Amino acid sequence: MQVIKVTPRGYCYGVVDAIEMAKRLAKSDNVRRPIYILGMVVHNQHVVDMLHAEYGIITLDGADRLELLKQVPDGSTVLFTAHGISPEVRAAAMERDLDCYDATCPDVTRTHDLVRELCAAGYHIIYIGRAGHPEAAGILGEAPDRIHLVQREEDLLRLKDKLPPGVAIAVTTQTTMSQWDTQELIDKIKAMYPGVLVKNEICLATQERQEAVVAAAAQADVVIVVGDRRSHNSTRLVEVVRRRAGKPAYLVDGVEEITPEMLAGCRVAAVTSGSSTPTYLTRQVISYLEQYGEENG
Ligand code: SF4
Repeated sequence: MQVIKVTPRGYCYGVVDAIEMAKRLAKSDNVRRPIYILGMVVHNQHVVDMLHAEYGIITLDGADRLELLKQVPDGSTVLFTAHGISPEVRAAAMERDLDCYDATCPDVTRTHDLVRELCAAGYHIIYIGRAGHPEAAGILGEAPDRIHLVQREEDLLRLKDKLPPGVAIAVTTQTTMSQWDTQELIDKIKAMYPGVLVKNEICLATQERQEAVVAAAAQADVVIVVGDRRSHNSTRLVEVVRRRAGKPAYLVDGVEEITPEMLAGCRVAAVTSGSSTPTYLTRQVISYLEQYGEENG
């Protein structure tokens, strides 16, 4: 099968830095043990397993980071993930006898700074993001009364009572959203609240990966996205292909999840991966597809 290797794909700089920070801590003699991570350092189980097996780092998995923090014993080390952390969790960790390290991606930190500034200036913020995602939880935690999570149009209708005309409103976004879906929502918000201040925070890595895969999909019969089901940016890549390019797209954790049904009748496959997907997994998928067809087709 002909394979289009979409670029850019795979690890972004925020993910690389977070994984490197975890490894550096594990190699240092000056860091107290055990080392815990509050949530998955990046949303890929292979990375979590590697950090445990090779570096002894313990990942505490769960949606509520304040609850996870309670599982960390005094005298140990805790690492905050690339997705960022709410001020409440950060403060609770700092109050304890813990060594705290922060792998928050600078692009997420920028959104935290932005929402703090906007709230201080008197704005209510409509935040386009995904409920339950750690990045969204961290941002909402900056000002739970003033930041309003919106996932879809119905959520906007519910906001009408909370945010009557005349209230200063800004809109911003989670870094890993689909830029097209977000724009549709922003247009609706602008219609509801003329004069709303728009600060799109979708990061460059996310935008570039989405644009590249949509362009490649035009030349392909099928798109395979390599990534973890919990990786928001990976699931968005599948969605933008389906919605923007109108082509079939599948998310696979690795080569073993590719099925003949996904490839039936296809001559050209485009392959990309989420920004938290290790390179070797994508390489395996590419070489499998390059050989596919010689014996199957
Ligand atoms: S996807 Fe964007 S915000 Fe998230 S870690 Fe990568 S660069 Fe940072």
